[in-house]
Amino acid sequence: MSRVFNFSAGPSTLPVEVLEQARQEMLDWQGSGMSVMEMSHRGKHFMAIAEAMKNDLIELLAIPANYQVLFLQGGASAQFALIPQNILNGKTKAAYVNTGAWSTSAIKEAGKYCEVQLSASAETSGFTTVPTLNTWQIDSDAAYLHYTSNETIHGVEFSEIPDVADIPLVCDMSSNILSRQFDVSRFGLIYAGAQKNMGPSGVTVVIVRDDLLGLTQDTVPSVFNYQLQAKSDSMLNTPATYNWYLLGLVLQWSKRQGGLAAIEQTNIRKAQKLYQAIDASVLYRNPVDPEYRSRMNVPFVLADAGLDKEFLRLADAAGLSSLPGHRSVGGMRASIYNAMSEAGVDALIDFMAEFERTH
Ligand SMILES: *Cc1c(COP(=O)(O)O)cnc(C)c1O
Repeated sequence: MSRVFNFSAGPSTLPVEVLEQARQEMLDWQGSGMSVMEMSHRGKHFMAIAEAMKNDLIELLAIPANYQVLFLQGGASAQFALIPQNILNGKTKAAYVNTGAWSTSAIKEAGKYCEVQLSASAETSGFTTVPTLNTWQIDSDAAYLHYTSNETIHGVEFSEIPDVADIPLVCDMSSNILSRQFDVSRFGLIYAGAQKNMGPSGVTVVIVRDDLLGLTQDTVPSVFNYQLQAKSDSMLNTPATYNWYLLGLVLQWSKRQGGLAAIEQTNIRKAQKLYQAIDASVLYRNPVDPEYRSRMNVPFVLADAGLDKEFLRLADAAGLSSLPGHRSVGGMRASIYNAMSEAGVDALIDFMAEFERTH
């Protein structure tokens, strides 16, 4: 067996230790005589797995007691539609900031359920920066303000949490949750699909402040009603049990790395050396404003796009996989989530230098 360095944007590489433990426990989870896949979600074994998983997430993110943590299905994309239906609170308007492809999708979907006020947009820059914070327009009758803390496709990441006074701040953290320390109490609601930094696809984490519960519109399906799910520990119906288990293993692994403080330091180091290599080269270029370059997703283009195919072919042959950029932007993208080792980043940098030397 040989494993490649997998730079996929999501689903993405997982820690080998996690995969090995899952393999080890596949047929018989800790003496239960069954696979986690085969367990009743109401039985004592799975309840223990679920409780430990939730507590580990609360510990890692230091989630205050006045927040509920939900584990839902439907991906982050389902939340694009569910957030307005759950927290508009009788209002008709919500404010959104557009920093790239994922905020654009969130805005489009929210527009089916409310009037979207576009508070700020980086579209004219080609989504290579974050609009200056003090220029954002937020109407006083907007129910909340939504932004995307890391734009997975454009490689743009907020370096700080925007200060929006009293309005509930809602954030799509799908591609940078668990990658850095941050203060949960600044937010009304945080959501993230698992398949970037937390595990396989199929489970979406929603962290919601208590005062935003109980506001759900009557037409919303019960399984997507935040308060009903909070009351039933996200088990209103059968959850994605195996995905919860794998998410739990990734959280345990994250704790063994030293938690978010240690993980953040490693991520800073990995991202810095990759951007430095790109900036120092003649062949490669990253278009993003240095202040807002993502630590998770590093897009880059070659000075001669005619070399793209050859770059990808040789990279694949060298065990560096899934480097094509998103089809909407082209070029290359290296996603270097928590589970991408520093050795993987070093191997990519060495390969890029060698490719530049020989082309
Ligand atoms: C991947 C991603 C999504 C979409 O997630 P799904 O689980 O496929 O719906 C949304 N937002 C961001 C920032 C993402 O990276």
